[in-house]
Amino acid sequence: MNMGDNTGDFKLVCSVCGKDHGPSATSCSVDDALLRTEYAKKKFSLSPYPGIWRYLDWLPVADRLVQISSGPRSYHSIGLANELGLDQLTIGFNGYWPERSAEIRTGSFKELEALPAFQRIIEWGNKEVLVLASAGNTARAFSYVASSISAPCVVVVPQSAMGRLWLPGMDKGPVVVVVGVDGDYADAIDVAAGLAPQDGFIAEGGTRNIARRDGLGTVLLDAVRDTAVLPDHYFQAVGSGTGGISAYEASLRLIGDGRFGNRLPRLHLAQNTPCAPLYHGMRGEPCPDTCPDGMYDEVLFNRTPPLFVGGGVQDVLLATEGELIGVQKKEAVKARKLFEQLEGIDILPAAAVAVAALIQSVESGKVARRDRVLLNITGGGVDRVKEEFGLDLMGQDIGFSPGDDIMELMGEIREAMGLNT
Ligand SMILES: *Cc1c(COP(=O)(O)O)cnc(C)c1O
Repeated sequence: MNMGDNTGDFKLVCSVCGKDHGPSATSCSVDDALLRTEYAKKKFSLSPYPGIWRYLDWLPVADRLVQISSGPRSYHSIGLANELGLDQLTIGFNGYWPERSAEIRTGSFKELEALPAFQRIIEWGNKEVLVLASAGNTARAFSYVASSISAPCVVVVPQSAMGRLWLPGMDKGPVVVVVGVDGDYADAIDVAAGLAPQDGFIAEGGTRNIARRDGLGTVLLDAVRDTAVLPDHYFQAVGSGTGGISAYEASLRLIGDGRFGNRLPRLHLAQNTPCAPLYHGMRGEPCPDTCPDGMYDEVLFNRTPPLFVGGGVQDVLLATEGELIGVQKKEAVKARKLFEQLEGIDILPAAAVAVAALIQSVESGKVARRDRVLLNITGGGVDRVKEEFGLDLMGQDIGFSPGDDIMELMGEIREAMGLNT
């Protein structure tokens, strides 16, 4: 792989020991901690491009994709803010809401990860097939971007999640292959883990992929572009916690700039109890065996989140005096209705978990009237996408049962993509 000066101007350093790594490293060779990008540009500045590409200086790529330019979109809340008695509530809306110029047609902030992740692969001259496992939203976002730019991609999903695998009024290209696993999300992860090391395939990397993290970090950059100051509090529903880590890392960059304050926002990360591996993990307790059954939104269930890894969720909570908040399904249901009434747009159930966490924190006095709050609405506007474009189900290309042969699956994938086997 040739990774010269044309892949963005940054260093990759260990988030714990500070060791400098080459641009293709995915973890620290000393302590296995997450690597963090340190950009040559220390001042926050905007590029003359639309959507997420406005933040190109702080994305680990040299150029942008021209085909898609969705991005994060923040606005000052009036409805929900008044209801909760908050003077400075910023909503980061990551979904589709054309009246507010929110253009994410796959309906969640996973699209903010997919865009720089694919651009980075292109800049590396990588011809390999990207492999990822997903319970829904990630598969949608990556399939949409892959189809739009004709980048080969395999998405491995549990068959039960097939209903969430739609594209906004378009068919997927032949370059995207959907493997439906007869099992749960953990089984899908196992299958993807079996495929990724094979010749011609490459893992998308999850939390360790800096393009994904810095893509999510643009939610905070967009909010601060509006308010000109770092928020005191950041609220988000989490599964892996990647969004929380990203918000922390983006805060470090903004503090480094010097113009936006010097206090890290407190991270308030929310999960749906009792199926809340991060929430329980921080307390040293297991989740019930029945999980994820009965959850409000299964996208928040990740069995192996980066909780104790260096630079991971526990570290960023400690650094920001943050917390994990447990939210019950009935609180989330109520919060969703309230948000939709007061703000006038539909949101995904996962996002409602963050709204419920904010409500709890206002009621308990942790968040005060004058505090600056950023509420990350991680997905929404799917009703609007449906009206305008229709939701076209992708469907399964290849079925797989745990125990089936991975080599055979590889052959079927290459055949489906029209690659020579
Ligand atoms: C993935 C997802 C989350 C959780 O994101 P992480 O930061 O990866 O934990 C929250 N909400 C929605 C809608 C998601 O798709």
